[in-house]
Amino acid sequence: MKIAIMGAMPEEIAPILQQLKDYTTTSYADNSYYEASYHGVDLVVAYSKIGKVFSALTAATMIEHFGATKLLFSGVAGAINSSLKIGDLIVATKLAQHDLDITTFGHPYGYVPEGSVYIEADQALVELSKRVAAGIGVNIKEGTIATGDQFIANETKKKWIQDVFAADALEMEGGSVAVVCKALNIPFFILRSISDAADMDAGFNFDEFLQSSAHVSAEFIMKMVDKLGN
Ligand code: SAH
Repeated sequence: MKIAIMGAMPEEIAPILQQLKDYTTTSYADNSYYEASYHGVDLVVAYSKIGKVFSALTAATMIEHFGATKLLFSGVAGAINSSLKIGDLIVATKLAQHDLDITTFGHPYGYVPEGSVYIEADQALVELSKRVAAGIGVNIKEGTIATGDQFIANETKKKWIQDVFAADALEMEGGSVAVVCKALNIPFFILRSISDAADMDAGFNFDEFLQSSAHVSAEFIMKMVDKLGN
């Protein structure tokens, strides 16, 4: 078993690299990949750069080139569900691409032929996250995550994504990683800690809370890796 751990930004994987005592760095496809053995589990770690295209490339590379057999994503997101506060954790049960739009042809938002609006995350990994959370007394929320190539800092747009996709949180990579993992039959898990509420203060809040929220998510992911190794 080889586990891929990915984030979108350096801040999202920095806490993970800090925990790995030794790792080797490989340059591939215009990115850096870090490989290590952690508590007996082989890991490949990378940040993709922001957005759906870069994250799809990195996910596919980790699987096809580095041989990852499971993929865990750790990062930050904007909250839609008002019960989610900054620093809270949300686990995606399913993901959609909110900016995918060929509705002119009578299709629903987020849909293209031979695709599906939603992709479900691996149930066993979601269940494992619940056991890990219970074990360390941490609250995690399960919900739907909407992904698009836009930083959302606007109540109207946020409400639209909530209404159309029944989403609890939004970000810019989970939905594309889900497409790749589903196509390649790799169990995947998307974890996000809230950095902002996708409202007019989102840019400011994101800058303030990126590091602390990224840390919350990364720590939880490493607890899951511990369990996956057993
Ligand atoms: N400040 C960065 C850009 C961050 S983009 C820079 O200047 O380089 C936001 C990143 O955090 C994306 O990777 C996305 O997945 C996540 N994210 C957090 N809050 C978000 C929001 N409100 N809308 C969209 N993505 C958000």
